[in-house]
Amino acid sequence: MNSPEFKLLDTMSGEVKPLETLEPNHLKFYSCGPTVYNYAHIGNFRTFLTADLIVRTAEAIGWKVSYVSNITDVGHLTEDSFVDSQGEDKMARALASKEGEHFHNVWELAEFYERAFIEDWQRLNLREPYVRPKATQHMREQILAANQLVSQKNAYETPSGVYFDVESFESYGKLSGNTQDKLREAVREVVLDENKHKQADFALWKKDDQHLMQWYSPYGWGFPGWHLECSVMARAYLGDTIDLHGGGEDLIFPHHECEIAQSESLTGKPFCSHWVHTRFLLVNGEKMSKSLGNYYTVRDLLAKGVDPLAIRYALMGGVFNKQYNFTDQGLRDAGRIIERFAEADRAADVASGADDSSSASLKEELEVLYQECLEAMLNNLNTSVALAKALEGQRIILRQGGKLNAKSGAIAKEFLNKINQLLGIVRPEYSLEISTSQSQAETDLDSALIERLIEDRKSAKKNKDFTLADSIRKQIEDMGVEVQDTPTGTIWKVKSGI
Ligand SMILES: [Zn+2]
Repeated sequence: MNSPEFKLLDTMSGEVKPLETLEPNHLKFYSCGPTVYNYAHIGNFRTFLTADLIVRTAEAIGWKVSYVSNITDVGHLTEDSFVDSQGEDKMARALASKEGEHFHNVWELAEFYERAFIEDWQRLNLREPYVRPKATQHMREQILAANQLVSQKNAYETPSGVYFDVESFESYGKLSGNTQDKLREAVREVVLDENKHKQADFALWKKDDQHLMQWYSPYGWGFPGWHLECSVMARAYLGDTIDLHGGGEDLIFPHHECEIAQSESLTGKPFCSHWVHTRFLLVNGEKMSKSLGNYYTVRDLLAKGVDPLAIRYALMGGVFNKQYNFTDQGLRDAGRIIERFAEADRAADVASGADDSSSASLKEELEVLYQECLEAMLNNLNTSVALAKALEGQRIILRQGGKLNAKSGAIAKEFLNKINQLLGIVRPEYSLEISTSQSQAETDLDSALIERLIEDRKSAKKNKDFTLADSIRKQIEDMGVEVQDTPTGTIWKVKSGI
């Protein structure tokens, strides 16, 4: 089967080029996951969303996707932008913080934030990877890899650890442009470690018998360098050469550059054919920061009553390889659009009656829109165009409203199903127990009273007493509840605080 081209900007060549898979129609994709020391913010989730959209788009053209996304639970240091990370272990620092007081030990903290992360992931309709490996569960492979690199003279031991010798890998710098002659510039801020041969050499193993998470190795007690886990986990699940590797733009250097040096030295083969990096997210025009009040986690937004699919929709507004400004207004608009998708979905569900021949033209219109939507995604994940096409289809369905019959209803449903498969914006794909403060707010309200008022309003409208109907509506809204009339009846929800 000849599948269409799937074009994506490749960081290594700087070109938008077709993804080429080693095995026909089988994409082997590794995407760097989070370090589980706190809640991930929406900027992190924009990167995970890019990975999700790649998986969905590849599946939409019939590819099989072996998708691996890891959990970093050890070895990620606070100063991770240095060529050789410095500072404290992020996990250990989190345990020593105020929030850390809730946990008995660092393992419990890791487990807690991992669970929270997966919950947020699923709320945003992100596809589960086929495996979600953890660094701490791949210690043996990391120690063996460090050993092999030492015996090949790609790495050396010092009193403080085991370091990769960047001069031993000729093409170091091919991804980031931080080649050896330019490295002086890139590493000038690095704290000098007199044990290392060169400043740019990076740790494969840190010796530390005081560390909260430590393992025994031929180099004594300690823990692995952050970059090593992704090299060994990608190889363990996907083989020596992978088709695609992704992450946030901050991972290009040093993390991914170091992964290439390690992996290619270990296997003697090319590590990865295509690299994809998601640009940073701005929130309300500025870089996210706690002091500016624009630092949002998924749960911060859920607590304000935002629909998780609205967060997803809003994050998709900009193309992944451009910086994107996420705004409160954009989020409010996304919320309204998500509601209308749900409304279109309900209208398609309840449609009945004989066909009046309108279904043939509806089918054609929606098929064209779906194809255009898919083409936009195949063209470097052009989400702005893809969403516009999906929205156009949604408007067409809603315009039909009560006129949808059994046949056209089924056509509308098929379109919405396909859009949900591709973009994940029509309805949740996971059934999750609700544990957010939004649902708490809902339970705090007297649901029975609201339902009764809605019934009263309905009979007032039926009796054409619109003044009464409006005053009941106002009464409900004063309780902090939003009321919406849809083709399938009246629905209500707690008002969004955003
Ligand atoms: Zn990684």
